[in-house]
Amino acid sequence: MNDTNDGLAFLPLGGTGEIGMNLNLYRLGSTWLAIDCGIGFSGNDTPEAEILMPDPVFIVERKNDLAGLVITHAHEDHLGAVAHLWPRLGCPIYATPFAASVLRRKLGEAHLTQQVKIHVIAPGGAFNVGPFDLRFIPVTHSVPEAQAVVLRTPHGIIVHTGDWKFDPQPMVGPPTDVAAFEALGDEGVLAMVCDSTNVMTQGPSASESDVRRSMTDLIASLSGRIAVTCFASNVARIETIAKAAQAAGRSVVIVGRSLRNLDVSARECGYLADVPPFLSEQEANSLPDDEVVMIITGSQGEPRSALSRIASDSHPNISLGEGDTVIYSSRMIPGNEQAVMQVQDNLTRRGVRVLTDRDHLVHVSGHATGGDVRRLFDLVRPRFAVPVHGEWRHLTANAAIAREKGVLPILLEDGDILNLAPGAVEVVDTAPTGRLVLDGGRLLPMNGGVLAARRRMLFNGIVMGSFAVDDEGYLIGDPKVSAPGLLDPEDPETSRLTEEFGNALDEIPDELRRDDNTFREAAKTALRRALGRKLQKRPLVDVHLLRV
Ligand SMILES: [Zn+2]
Repeated sequence: MNDTNDGLAFLPLGGTGEIGMNLNLYRLGSTWLAIDCGIGFSGNDTPEAEILMPDPVFIVERKNDLAGLVITHAHEDHLGAVAHLWPRLGCPIYATPFAASVLRRKLGEAHLTQQVKIHVIAPGGAFNVGPFDLRFIPVTHSVPEAQAVVLRTPHGIIVHTGDWKFDPQPMVGPPTDVAAFEALGDEGVLAMVCDSTNVMTQGPSASESDVRRSMTDLIASLSGRIAVTCFASNVARIETIAKAAQAAGRSVVIVGRSLRNLDVSARECGYLADVPPFLSEQEANSLPDDEVVMIITGSQGEPRSALSRIASDSHPNISLGEGDTVIYSSRMIPGNEQAVMQVQDNLTRRGVRVLTDRDHLVHVSGHATGGDVRRLFDLVRPRFAVPVHGEWRHLTANAAIAREKGVLPILLEDGDILNLAPGAVEVVDTAPTGRLVLDGGRLLPMNGGVLAARRRMLFNGIVMGSFAVDDEGYLIGDPKVSAPGLLDPEDPETSRLTEEFGNALDEIPDELRRDDNTFREAAKTALRRALGRKLQKRPLVDVHLLRV
């Protein structure tokens, strides 16, 4: 593609498809701007890869032309990849005080605090990044200080909504700045890039204030210990739970590392100001059952979370049982159903009552409903709509609303480069895309050799043959074969395999024994042959040749 033209283009590198890992790029002339840089969690189909992020190779190759990275809000799928990918991107970052606080902790854990320059921008603030004239518009979402980004360019105005909803009473932070969106609409907007996550829900969004009323009544009506699980970043929800607890004369304990981190960031930025300091989990045990509410991590069934450990009675400080209640103040993210059900089952087995948003109004989504999106189109009146952040059916539903509003929708796949101006608004090129997997401390390509071998080992096992030879290539001692994950060492099949491997090695012609590589390949073939078809599997086969 022509990187040096004067136009304006949009390129999503992650954010469409089943795992939302947002990484959006805009190009103005030859300069690039990134918006958000998030991780995604894989479902059951890829057990070798838990945490995923977009492969940024396209923009890494153009990093000298990358002017900056703007973070719209402090959710993992929008900023969780920064600490991992920043060393490859190396650009300044722009974020609101709360997102910056969350990000600084992550960068600190990755020993990057000194290197990364974070420009803190006030909610609603205007700023310039290279040639990009930008402005934040405050929107309501399930985390404080979520911002839409307005890009004012010589070719027109782009509105990048980020994650948002309408809620006249969000309880924490201001409601979505309706007037700002309407003013942009009056000015004329070229394109709106819009969140699609919850667009298939009809009607307007429910309000956090409804949850607050309902949670207050519910907590007041319960006896015994109460635990509420929700997303750690949902400060309004944490405030809701804390105030409901206070109204019922209960103290609040927070359990789990991400909640403790969040509490620090929130209070540092002036949130939770009239909520008394939370008690530690050790202090919970000194309180009578009817005088405590615990806020606990683990609403998605994460196996190492506090709630999963409490459910299996393996938590060091907290235990729940007969007469206690756990409230799920969250939605089940698709893909996590089985894990969540397992935790709920374990709790129920212990006599704990489990309440969810099916029983009571204890959760509302932070994303715009179809009704919200309709209203935003009426305010912004863009010429083009680019639905992002959702699976294909969500993007399509968002596009249908756009069409209904007289706006031309354009559906993109990750990697599609959309020319916005000058000339026709259309996909003009494709950028390479892919996923990186966080494996321990490393990033591995999802489709690379290492993970392909891991998948093969996972499903087919591995067979390892070791043998020592002298200078001439003749066997010294007996070879050894091990097949972890496939055969027990005591299995008679293991000794048969070892014996046949030895025999097959004996048959390798002399001329193949001189060079190590040739010998190793011949030995691998021998081991494969010894394995035969008996196991009806094709395990990963490798040999160790030791020349002594
Ligand atoms: Zn979000």
